Amino acid sequence: GPTNNWKDPKEMHAQLQTLFSGCMEGRTLYVIPYCMGPLGSPLARFGVEITDSPYVVLNMRLMTRIVPPMKDFVPGVHSVGMPLKPGQKDVPWPCNPLQRHIVHFPEERAIWSFGSGYGGNALLGKKCFALRIASVLGRDEGWLAEHMLILGLTSPQGEKKYIAAAFPSACGKTNLAMLTPALPGWKVECVGDDIAWMHFAKDGRLYAINPEAGYFGVAPGTSMKTNPNAIRSLTHDAIFTNVALTEDKDVWWEGLSPPPEHLTSWLGTPWDPNSGKPAAHPNSRFTVSSRQCPIYDPAAEALGGVPISAILFGGRRGSVVPLVTEAFDWAHGVFFGASVSSETTAAAKGTLGKLRHDPFAMLPFCGYHMGDYFAHWLKMGAHSHHLPRIYSVNWFQKGADGKFLWPGFGDNARVLKWVFERTGNQAPAKKTPIGYIPETLDYEGDLTELLKVDRDAWLAECDELATYFQLFGDKMPPALLDQLHHLRRRLA
Ligand code: GDP
Ligand code: MN
Repeated sequence: GPTNNWKDPKEMHAQLQTLFSGCMEGRTLYVIPYCMGPLGSPLARFGVEITDSPYVVLNMRLMTRIVPPMKDFVPGVHSVGMPLKPGQKDVPWPCNPLQRHIVHFPEERAIWSFGSGYGGNALLGKKCFALRIASVLGRDEGWLAEHMLILGLTSPQGEKKYIAAAFPSACGKTNLAMLTPALPGWKVECVGDDIAWMHFAKDGRLYAINPEAGYFGVAPGTSMKTNPNAIRSLTHDAIFTNVALTEDKDVWWEGLSPPPEHLTSWLGTPWDPNSGKPAAHPNSRFTVSSRQCPIYDPAAEALGGVPISAILFGGRRGSVVPLVTEAFDWAHGVFFGASVSSETTAAAKGTLGKLRHDPFAMLPFCGYHMGDYFAHWLKMGAHSHHLPRIYSVNWFQKGADGKFLWPGFGDNARVLKWVFERTGNQAPAKKTPIGYIPETLDYEGDLTELLKVDRDAWLAECDELATYFQLFGDKMPPALLDQLHHLRRRLA
């Protein structure tokens, strides 16, 4: 499809055979058998990764459940792509940036990864298996593999519901998954912070498991103020990658605290606070087992998954997209998912900046044609009369002063509360051309701008979306083009 990077599998295999030939010379080959999902769950899947990176071994032990496969498995071969000749000294971060290939064979259900030692390129259970290969399994077998966090939300009355949310990378999944609610009496528990596998069960409801067993989270910006549960998870048995070091060999990153003196930067050299360069790499990470999270939901181990009451879609939009909107129905919700985008450059209020579209937050992770993926979502909605409700959220609207209008983080619980009540038909909403918007929220501040529907800006948004959807050609489901058409009519 137009958003994938396809090559003839025969040609690619030939190229990989050449690349991988002798690529692990001088290193140790490790075999990592692992399970994605709770052991014994009918929804879980097995994988086996072969790698020449001990860093990958350690991370996979935290991110997955290490166990021999009990049925078929997805094979993955990984090499940092830097063989060592006899006597050749290793480097701290072996890799091969000039020959980097992260390759998926969806027909074979196999993964080949060469030249990178980091993150989703190397920990093959995560993006490669649990999203790219699994999205293909989901299409063929009638389920959904999604770039979504899963959280449990308990009301002061003790009622518990589960919410899944898809946001593009660096748009707040880990933060929302571990949220400390600003609303007294409400409780959030974390099932997963990145990936959800969702199936309709016999009772007609949508159930989700988190295929992962750990968090591979962005370090910068994570602090006791923004995400205390992440910080509390990191007191022991954690791996830190590309962070800065303090004098007494503790870790540090931007946003954690005021910078201590005498830091060593992520590059291993003394850090100069006046250099204008960050001490920790902006994409530096922590890896830790989910069980160390103080609000880890025991239901994350439930073999059948947790029932999902609501699905949220959100990107980083400085304007136009309100704080929260409820879809009229499933197809309208699928339209929300297909419309996710983030602004890459600052826009004047009410106008569109340069948008980067990221449908369903799956742009880099969908293992087949995105148009077929939209159709798969539409089709899944026909399975049930007990569908989750679908919402669009946006924590990132900015005022004329360039500051965020919404406090975000723990205050996002105010939006979750409305969603919780809506799914029980307990909260009032007004019908607008773009969907249902809250009459009000449990919030002292001014909601006018945050909940405003600017018709002109939305008509421009429709034009922009119409252009974007052309990318998918005749694979674009007519039902989604109808959604756009109806939206335009309601706005006119
Ligand atoms: P992920 O990659 O989707 O898991 O995103 P993270 O949870 O790691 O957050 C990415 C960035 O967004 C971090 O810099 C966070 O501080 C920031 N962020 C997360 N939630 C909010 C929010 O509610 N409001 C604002 N303004 N920023 C947020
Ligand atoms: Mn994350």
